[in-house]
Amino acid sequence: MPITSFHDIPVFQFSSLAGRPGLVHAISTRHGGVSPPPWDSLNLSHTRGDDTARVNENHRRLCAALDVPADALTNAYQVHGAQVMLIGPAQRGQRQMNTDALITAAPDTPLLLRFADCTPIILYDPAHHALGLVHAGWRGTVAGIAAAAVHAMQVSFGSRPAELLAAVGPAIGPCCYEVGDEVVEAVRQAFSNPEALLPPGRRTRRHFDLWAANGQQLQEAGVRQIETAELCTACHHDWFFSHRAAAGRCGHFGALVMLRPL
Ligand SMILES: [Zn+2]
Repeated sequence: MPITSFHDIPVFQFSSLAGRPGLVHAISTRHGGVSPPPWDSLNLSHTRGDDTARVNENHRRLCAALDVPADALTNAYQVHGAQVMLIGPAQRGQRQMNTDALITAAPDTPLLLRFADCTPIILYDPAHHALGLVHAGWRGTVAGIAAAAVHAMQVSFGSRPAELLAAVGPAIGPCCYEVGDEVVEAVRQAFSNPEALLPPGRRTRRHFDLWAANGQQLQEAGVRQIETAELCTACHHDWFFSHRAAAGRCGHFGALVMLRPL
């Protein structure tokens, strides 16, 4: 697993994004924090029953490790929708309501979204030095949130999809993501080739391939450069929080991105 440690905090990084000048990116793991089971240990969610002081300390540790200003963390109250929010200086350090994607061209403005099986997607535009960060569970995926974020970057920054670098992070994989009829129906309505995204499982129910669905949606939006982690959070719940693997009792890891001035 491509894990890099920053000051004893292990994080996952994409090879297509690592080392890019002016770009900070990390997918945190569950290691390096202070929370006890079932949030052990780097839980970044205040809404999973963990103690606030511990969650704050976990944020402080991650930000310190990445040399990111913790007081400027800009996050979202995620609602599994398809709303994209443009983050400028006025939104820096605040929590955005009812949004699952953040885009920015503002330097020193760290964006953070939280995950425990849903799909983190990073969009980086090297031509305009601009960023997008997406939280895509099944609802957001069928609602087209990854494509909506690409479109918002086109409108806000003049981004050209073919120049974007997209990265699809650790999320529950087609191996483990068994879904019910509601999801199957929604996928069939949202995608032109739904059966390929709904592989049969070991039991009678279908599985949903969140990685491929989001990759396909990005391609249809014109994105050509896509790196997919292909890491299943349920298979690798020793490294990542997985809502499914923990039967709902777990913390959240984070995807954190920030632009530094070039
Ligand atoms: Zn799996």
